[in-house]
This record gives sequence, structure tokens and C-alpha cells, in this order.
Amino acid sequence: MEGLKLTSLSGKARTMVEAGPLRFGAGFAVIAGPCSVESEDQLMTIARAVKAAGADALRGGAFKPRTSPYAFQGLGLKALKVLDKARRETGLPVVTEVLDPRDVSWVSEFVDILQVGARNMQNFSLLKEVGKGYRPVLLKRGMHSTLEEWLNSAEYVLSAGNPRVILCERGIRTFEVYTRNTLDLSAVPAVRELSHLPVIVDPTHGTGRVSLIEPMSMAAAAAGADGLIVEVHHNPGEALSDKAQALLPEAFGTLVGKVRAIRACREGLEGGIQ
Ligand code: PEP
Ligand code: MN
Repeated sequence: MEGLKLTSLSGKARTMVEAGPLRFGAGFAVIAGPCSVESEDQLMTIARAVKAAGADALRGGAFKPRTSPYAFQGLGLKALKVLDKARRETGLPVVTEVLDPRDVSWVSEFVDILQVGARNMQNFSLLKEVGKGYRPVLLKRGMHSTLEEWLNSAEYVLSAGNPRVILCERGIRTFEVYTRNTLDLSAVPAVRELSHLPVIVDPTHGTGRVSLIEPMSMAAAAAGADGLIVEVHHNPGEALSDKAQALLPEAFGTLVGKVRAIRACREGLEGGIQ
């Protein structure tokens, strides 16, 4: 691939991206939490549950990119204050999505990692803005994007001065409608041969079905992913967004045990993951 001066693997060491105590690209990082922050009670309950179940970081949307303008749009600043509280109480680094370049600098004061969502993967103003910032960027693959387009988006962030990018495969749109998206797990080893950046997998948006999340998480760990981001809710039926795809905390705990076992097995087989 042409033009990926900073993002390509060629001759470079693998990048480890630090966020608080977490290092993406060294071991297997599991991010979990609700799709959206809905209230202080909801977030604190889920934060404590995912921490107890073995999560390494907490997710929660404050600004939601919804298909309908009438759907819940997120609590904004109120959500960020609650995320900050959860971070202080649990010690888990926090990930939230930023939609608007004007929000990058002030949102950076509340969270540890900024997510650029699938719908914004080619929002070049947003990429340049997070590239000028100091927070690690979790860059989701666009739902219609090739690997080359995705890696070029990472190049925007790196070339603007921020080397801390974590790639995230979250499924692409195909003719299949049984699943919400088609989770392209071949992207994991493909990205690892093309780029030095860590790559994680989102089996939640990748499948949209609770029953498929655990098997695809295990497959992601077997394929060499550096981690997962998973939606968890203590009362999925009442969730204000993505209720059909949220795992209960108990199911998430089982998943964590299984993916860590697969990861250990893979490390044994490969003699450590290079
Ligand atoms: C999300 O993580 O809540 C989200 C909206 O993800 P994506 O951008 O992958 O659809
Ligand atoms: Mn979601």
C-alpha cells in the first residue's frame, strides 16, 4: 500500500499505546460498558460489574451517532462527569466517542481514550483534530471502508502528530442481514501484517446479536487481536441504545475467562505474540 509512511509496519517496531495503567499491544485489553451513559446509577452499576468481571477499561457514550435525530443522542457533559467519577472510583481508564472536532480538546479533559466512530472514520477534520491532541485514539473501521482507507485514516492522525492510535474492527456492511454487520476477522491478521498499530475487535456492533458475541470474541483472540470492546448492560431490555446487543455482566464475566484462556493458548503456540 502506497503512502502509509507512518502507519505501515515496514521496518518499524510494534507500537504499544498507553492509557493510564493499560498498554494496548502488550497483552489482551478488554474494554466494556454500556453503549450510552444513561444516568449516574446506571453507569456506576455497570462500571463496578465490569471491573469485577475482569474488564481493563470502561466504555460509555456521551455523544451518540444515531440514525434517527429523534433517538436518544447522549447526555453530553453530564455523561462525561459521570464517566470521570467511574474512572476515579474503579481506576479503569475510560473510552468515549467524540463526534465533533470542536469537542476534542475539552472532552480530552474527562476521558483517557477518544473513540472515532465508524460513521466518522473519514471525517478528516475530526481526524486532524484528534491528531493534534494528546489522548490515544480508538479508530473504528468505517462500515464501508477498505483496509487501505482505514489505514489512511490512521495516517491522518499520526501525521498530525499523535502516534497513539488503536485500530478497531467493528464489522462491515454486506448483503447479509441476519447479523447487524459482517465482522471481518481477517482484518486482524491483515492489519498486523500491514501496520505496527494495535488492533482490537468490537464483536457487539460486529454482530448485533448477543448469542454471537462470545464465539466471535474467542475467534478474535485466536486471530491475534490485541483486545476487545464489548457492550454490557445490567438491564438490557431498558437500555436507551443498542438494547438487542448488550451482554449481562455475568455473561461478560464468562466471556472474559474464555478469551483470556484462548489468548494464553495462542501465546503458548506462537511462543509469545510478536
Ligand atoms: C459505539 O461504539 O457505540 C458505536 C456507535 O460504534 P460504531 O461507530 O462502530 O458503530
Ligand atoms: Mn452501541
